[in-house]
Amino acid sequence: MLTESDAKQRWCPWARAEITDGDGSPLASANRLAAVGHEGPDIEWPDARCIASDCMAWRWDELRDTRERKLVNKKTGAEEFSGTTADTEWVLVNPLERMPQRMGYCGLAGKP
Ligand code: SF4
Repeated sequence: MLTESDAKQRWCPWARAEITDGDGSPLASANRLAAVGHEGPDIEWPDARCIASDCMAWRWDELRDTRERKLVNKKTGAEEFSGTTADTEWVLVNPLERMPQRMGYCGLAGKP
């Protein structure tokens, strides 16, 4: 499981970046620098990184997704539904606790 910001530092095996010639005309596409004759380690193409939740394949970890849970007020025990976003609900119900970071994964590789 990764945070979105961590995922955006990882390579996406499906992404392709355009390779152009000296005039800027498109030649091909690649996602690894070795594909364009880069000498040295075969490292990722910087433009071929995961875009996390902007991608249709991204999946949120449902167990940590506060939007999927009923939130319970720790003082009263009552369920709280404010009609606001999940993050706002968390802060309203748990004002003194650090909000858990949402985690997710690339759904194309299967569930971790
Ligand atoms: S979620 Fe998967 S397919 Fe989508 S950009 Fe990230 S690594 Fe690529």
